[in-house]
Amino acid sequence: MTEQDLISAVIRPEIRALTAYKVADATGYIKLDAMENPYTWPDKIKAEWLQVIHAAEINRYPDPEAKALCRILKEYNKIPTTSEILLGNGSDEIIQLLLMALPANATVMAPEPSFVMYKLIAQCLGLNYQGLPLLADNFELDIAATLATIEEQQPEIIFLAYPNNPTGNLFDSDAIEQIIQLSKGLVIIDEAYAPFTDFSFIEQLEKYNNLLVMRTVSKLGLAGLRLGFIAGKPNIINELNKARLPYNINILTQCSAEFALSHPDIFAEQTKTICLERARIFLQLSTIKGISPCPSAANFILFRTPRDKATEIFNSLKEQGVLIKNLSPQQGLLTDYLRVTIGKPEENNAFIKALKNTI
Ligand code: PMP
Repeated sequence: MTEQDLISAVIRPEIRALTAYKVADATGYIKLDAMENPYTWPDKIKAEWLQVIHAAEINRYPDPEAKALCRILKEYNKIPTTSEILLGNGSDEIIQLLLMALPANATVMAPEPSFVMYKLIAQCLGLNYQGLPLLADNFELDIAATLATIEEQQPEIIFLAYPNNPTGNLFDSDAIEQIIQLSKGLVIIDEAYAPFTDFSFIEQLEKYNNLLVMRTVSKLGLAGLRLGFIAGKPNIINELNKARLPYNINILTQCSAEFALSHPDIFAEQTKTICLERARIFLQLSTIKGISPCPSAANFILFRTPRDKATEIFNSLKEQGVLIKNLSPQQGLLTDYLRVTIGKPEENNAFIKALKNTI
């Protein structure tokens, strides 16, 4: 049997048809491609954290329910007492877990463009994925068309990133409520970029049985820990919990996140600086001829470049040592668009300088 025959025999066709999610090698670059917080911790805090790590019993399995961490996450994120949460190895794992729990042939919907993992994991699991095209001029939900598609196809699950990635905008909250009210399935509000906006659906958890709110600590400044959570009605969380692997949050993540979240001032300060930089870079981008930045409530800015120039500009920035994200190959509404993550002021300045050199 050839390797190809073997692969055809044992790997499902929908997986063979996929292209793996590629992450660029950022070694040596100013890294503005992945929505990370550029700041680390003061040495004193780092030293305290090392004490915590020192005490971790890595010969033992971690707490399978991560009870202490759940308590801290609920408090930090002001989760209503009537809601329960479930933790994931990054919110990516929670998306996978949600989709794994659906019936075979279930329908999954998400706006397009949005976070690519919704579609990728749905396709990987052989589910029926349906994109909901955003409006071309402002990346807002096309609410009439969206409601009609939901009514017609009755999806088991709808993902709405709030703010949306890669566009950075917050969808109209009335439109989102209409979707929650019309939908007979689950609606997941993905608040990965919550640290950079005051808007949230967490308070609405009390109001809707079919609403779940997902968050991550990645953008806050703990991407390396791989930790996300989803909040919703206890009975729904309880069912999802059955599909979760027992020790999915390792002991180093549990103790490090508990420690980190007990120092909220550090993150508040860092995210405030990032938001100020976001405003500054938005203004700078607006003054560059041929560049149109999109308003953002997240820690990145999507911007349009002159026609058919996106890849050339992306490569030129890379040659100058600045790595951002080229979205133009995704085509559709993202044709001619690039996305830059907000870094430290000096990194952002290097990006603007390199862009001005290029244009
Ligand atoms: N949701 C959105 C909207 C995202 O942009 C991302 C990461 N880019 C994630 C979820 C995944 O985050 P995590 O690091 O928690 O897996």
